[in-house]
Amino acid sequence: MFVRTMETLAGGEWTGSETWVDVFDPVDVRQPVVRVPALTAAQVTAVYAAAAAGFATWRRTPALERAKILAKAATLLRVRAAEIALGVVTENGKTLTEARGEVEKAADFFDYYAGQAREPYGSLVHDVRPDTQTSFRREPIGVVLAITPWNDPLITPARKLAPALSAGNAVVLKPASETPTAALYLARALHDAGLPAGVLNVVTGRTAEISGALLDDPRIAALTFTGSNEVGEGLRARVAPRNVRFQAELGGKNASVVLAGADLAAAATAVVAAAFGQAGQRCTATSRVLVDRSVHYEFLALLRDRVAALRLGSGQDAATNVGPLVSRNQQDGVLRHIAGAIKQGARVELGGDAPAGALAHGCYVNPTILADVTGEMDIWRDEVFGPVLAVRPFDGIDEAIALVNDSAYGLAAAVFTDRLEAAYRFADEVDCGQVAVNTTTSGWDVHHPFGGFRNSGSAFKEQGTEALHFYTRVKSVAVHFG
Ligand code: NAD
Repeated sequence: MFVRTMETLAGGEWTGSETWVDVFDPVDVRQPVVRVPALTAAQVTAVYAAAAAGFATWRRTPALERAKILAKAATLLRVRAAEIALGVVTENGKTLTEARGEVEKAADFFDYYAGQAREPYGSLVHDVRPDTQTSFRREPIGVVLAITPWNDPLITPARKLAPALSAGNAVVLKPASETPTAALYLARALHDAGLPAGVLNVVTGRTAEISGALLDDPRIAALTFTGSNEVGEGLRARVAPRNVRFQAELGGKNASVVLAGADLAAAATAVVAAAFGQAGQRCTATSRVLVDRSVHYEFLALLRDRVAALRLGSGQDAATNVGPLVSRNQQDGVLRHIAGAIKQGARVELGGDAPAGALAHGCYVNPTILADVTGEMDIWRDEVFGPVLAVRPFDGIDEAIALVNDSAYGLAAAVFTDRLEAAYRFADEVDCGQVAVNTTTSGWDVHHPFGGFRNSGSAFKEQGTEALHFYTRVKSVAVHFG
């Protein structure tokens, strides 16, 4: 089988290597489809030298010039959308419609932060000293290391790169080994748009071989990470002694609450979209549904109808609603979560296994609804990151809010209700960074501040103007003119 080779952007050059990392299409994992360079530790160290040199150039490039390059990259992403979307489907498994949406949103990030480059970035502040004018300004922080997961292989790097580059930083980007090609399409667009050498470098390779060179370089000023809690906590501890600024977007166990009186049909449609879109592999995916006991069985039937109608298959097939999971590893993990829940007493309302037959070579899991879930079950607490929905009844909004907050995570939550008072109370009392009323837990725009509370993230938000706080530092300047 033909394996396509993609080089990576390092130090302004498209770079290969002696050994390569294979990338698989989760529709059929018997053969790799693409290979990317396995950079060596020495190559990674060279990348940091290039990034430091790139930063020296880029920080002095006028912000409006930087903006033109970002805007041009956005245009190139849109022009190349068909090719890039197909690349995302091939390495990640999501549907073509989802991948097209990802390309458009990635382009939107670059447009948005190109616009931000026109905004004021400091203020005059009063000074007690006479004839003295004091101001503060935001300046870039330096070389940013960005480490990203496989579930949104284009948007997640774009969410970090756009504000980082707009503010004048250089970036070393390390995409997930399962899905490195989307980051390379992104790098191609920025390179072709005129980004100077060294300002963006993409480190592809085997994590175990390059982790030390990647994390311990003294030129790293900030580390932004999206991924699992386990890895995120390790990275935080690793860079903390060097006072490297750290941002993390971690796991979630997102709940949707359906109150009596809600439009049940609309709520079921929204919950199914949030739970099974991208085969449940969104950090904001709805994973728990809490339903008022008086409408519990009615709502379960509505869920069942909608989930039974979902079509599993290749993301390239226009009729597919749910593609495969990203890898065998992920498929096995999700099936283990389901088996564990059944063992602990959950009832399979639908799905619960992997499809046989023609789909067996792919990493598929049948869309699954688990009912009779209780707070003692692991499925209630653990992130699954797959097409699995856990459902349980509650009595009254006090219990619903307590159950939503009964989680180590605090990323996203939704309430479906016809009562404004209940909606605001939910928004006030739920301990999550993203709260939705009568809509899905996912689907936040590029200008909406984004990030989780508690174990789902760190204090620095992503997206919107908030993101610029992470990618800039504040300098105060006093000028005495008397
Ligand atoms: P992961 O933590 O396994 O890997 C994330 C990235 O870290 C990958 O690029 C990986 O190669 C890299 N990495 C792992 N160990 C490393 C090391 N020692 N040194 C350097 N890099 C290392 O996560 P994943 O499986 O790719 O993604 C799924 C997870 O991401 C889920 O837990 C999900 O909730 C989370 N996620 C969170 C958000 C959010 O915004 N909160 C968004 C998307 C995904």
